[in-house]
Amino acid sequence: MVFWPSIVVATPAHSGVGATLTYRSELSLAPGALVRVPLGSREVLGVVWDCPDTPPEGLTEARTKVVAGVLEGLPALNGCWRQLVKFSAQYYQRSLGEVALAALPPQLRELDSTQLARRLKRRAKAAAGVPPTAPEALQGHDLSAEQAEALQALAAATAPVLLYGATGSGKTEVYLRATQAVLETAAPENEAPTQVLVMVPEINLTPQLEARFRERFEPAFGAGSVVCLHSGMTPAQRLTSWLAAHTGSARIVLGTRMAVFASLPGLRLIVVDEEHDPSYKSQEGARYSARDLAVYRAKVESEALAAGGALLQAGPHPRPLPEGEGARGGGVVNPRCQVLLGSATPSLESWHAADQGRYLRLEMPGRIGGGALPRLRLVDMNHQPKGAVLAPPLVAAMGERIARGEQCLVLLNRRGYAPVLACHDCGWKSGCPHCSAYRVFHKLDRTLRCHHCGFTERVPRACPDCGNLDIAPVGRGTEQIEEQLAGLLVDVKRPDGQPARVARMDADSTRLKGSLEVQLAALHSGEVDVLVGTQMIAKGHDFRRITLVAGINADSALFASDYRAPERLFALLMQAAGRAGRDAAQSGASEMWIQTWYPQHPLFVTLKKHDYPAFAAEQLTEREQAGMPPYGFQALLRADARTQQAAQAFLNIAAEQAAGLPHRDQITLYPAVPLTIQRVANVERAQMLVETDSRGALQRFLSAWQPVLHACRSAPEAKGLVRWAVDVDPLSI
Ligand code: ADP
Ligand code: ZN
Ligand code: ZN
Repeated sequence: MVFWPSIVVATPAHSGVGATLTYRSELSLAPGALVRVPLGSREVLGVVWDCPDTPPEGLTEARTKVVAGVLEGLPALNGCWRQLVKFSAQYYQRSLGEVALAALPPQLRELDSTQLARRLKRRAKAAAGVPPTAPEALQGHDLSAEQAEALQALAAATAPVLLYGATGSGKTEVYLRATQAVLETAAPENEAPTQVLVMVPEINLTPQLEARFRERFEPAFGAGSVVCLHSGMTPAQRLTSWLAAHTGSARIVLGTRMAVFASLPGLRLIVVDEEHDPSYKSQEGARYSARDLAVYRAKVESEALAAGGALLQAGPHPRPLPEGEGARGGGVVNPRCQVLLGSATPSLESWHAADQGRYLRLEMPGRIGGGALPRLRLVDMNHQPKGAVLAPPLVAAMGERIARGEQCLVLLNRRGYAPVLACHDCGWKSGCPHCSAYRVFHKLDRTLRCHHCGFTERVPRACPDCGNLDIAPVGRGTEQIEEQLAGLLVDVKRPDGQPARVARMDADSTRLKGSLEVQLAALHSGEVDVLVGTQMIAKGHDFRRITLVAGINADSALFASDYRAPERLFALLMQAAGRAGRDAAQSGASEMWIQTWYPQHPLFVTLKKHDYPAFAAEQLTEREQAGMPPYGFQALLRADARTQQAAQAFLNIAAEQAAGLPHRDQITLYPAVPLTIQRVANVERAQMLVETDSRGALQRFLSAWQPVLHACRSAPEAKGLVRWAVDVDPLSI
């Protein structure tokens, strides 16, 4: 007998090749099975999508190739995973093959069956070598009343849950307990053990959370029950984690946005920590939102569980519901997969969904131990000495703290603060020859570095245009603030009589592997008194002795063209404020200082009251009036080309050719515009905003537009086009 499996292979996103290719096989292959198939002159990894025993019309044996082999010993990817991949490809306008293969660990592509068998054997042996210690009671905090209430509500919830909890309210403990509840639920016989996916926005945050999850769960569930998945891992590590998740030996997967695609046959809970964080949105390839996909995935998994596992199984054999299952007695709800989104400053999308009742909002307004949130102090820069970067009262307040043995955090918004080198005689600035951006002055190694294309040169001795020797930085970066602060605090002594110590933490100072950990340790141990840094210092870290946080250049975001800038600023400042006074004993005196030229700005007024709901309501009203997300729906058509003209020509032709496409009358196509950073690495960039008030219309229009876009590539006016891409639900426009 001959089968005609349709198989998904990695086809380039815009090749226009169909979603699946048809092969031949003597064996019936399960949907989701991983196979190796010939493609052109190579042999590549593929995922079986379907396996009919009749050929598609028009195909003959002579015209199809034979499946080269099946990756044996590896269970098939289940229906929920395939549905997630299919949905992502459709929604984000990419090819099925691109999304499916990108969702698998890269090393899987290189393994043959023998190598894989060896890996699996080694895995099994390792797993068997470390049996879980007795299933003793798990350690944990006694829950606060708010935590207990939240967990109770979560247990009964049937909609996605938005956990709106102040910084320091103990959200992590809620994640841990919710995870525990899932892991302690025995999966029905013949089903994969229950699993939990926990997502964090950045790799930097995984070590801390990882430590807490390991500490909590490994004693009971065994070493290897917690694995990580993020881009900082080696391909070999990623494969190991992926296999552990796929085969069910890992019960908890902790990861960044890529982890949303992990194969988790027993998935019952997805936690998305700091759900508002922009890093959940991918900025390349399929530009997916891992948060949105998490919500979708939980729904698909729940439907599958409710249907008795039909979708969960590799084959088409639905499992009948056992007697009595599905009853809701005793607080037991149908088996389902929940999604828990946590944040102190939820995204306006999620907040709006909760307003509408699509999500269940749970609140934890209090901090653990009853500590108060830091008091907000606005420093009116209009009343400070001319040219002061740091207001004298702020410096004085920091000095007092340090003298008391407390720590301070100084937060810089890097945007608008790049230290560019300039000549004050002729006006020369350190532009990048390949980009429409300035290169940043790095004092440490005396280089000028482009943060867009990476082009680096040593600092010139004199102005390249006029020969002036006196070239100096404009704008202040973290390095300079660090230096200035050290000077301003030179007379301040710590309680031990030592001079105050200032350190800096940003993308540069933490580039070396492990250096972030070293710097964090220095802060924790009290070696450092003042830490200066960019957004990365505001996130998640649990610093005990920080009692003062200062935001010194917040204003740039108040008037940014990006309509999401205020939302981001509010989140950043709230999060930064949350770093202060985490020790309840000191929290009474903890303060957040903000230097601003606009102390009356409504954003600061709501921030002062820690009133996120008021801020959100205000922003949502503005968004509704302007038809912006979450009320409107957007996509960007982006084009990169050798010339700006070609990039825009492609967009304009694409818009013309859209005439007559389905739902065109519901869609607004805006004029093509250059990106803010118009040129990067000698490539000109342009974009066109696509807007509508119907998500369905947007989806159907974009699908119909795809083939048109492929065709527009070869328009003579667009000669020099390098690439194009569609970004659905873009984060910044
Ligand atoms: P969030 O993530 O909401 O900002 P965390 O989860 O980091 O807050 O919790 C803040 C601190 O409170 C942590 O040090 C945590 O260990 C501690 N904590 C959490 N829950 C409790 C509890 N029920 N009792 C005592 N301490 C707790
Ligand atoms: Zn000059
Ligand atoms: Zn450059």
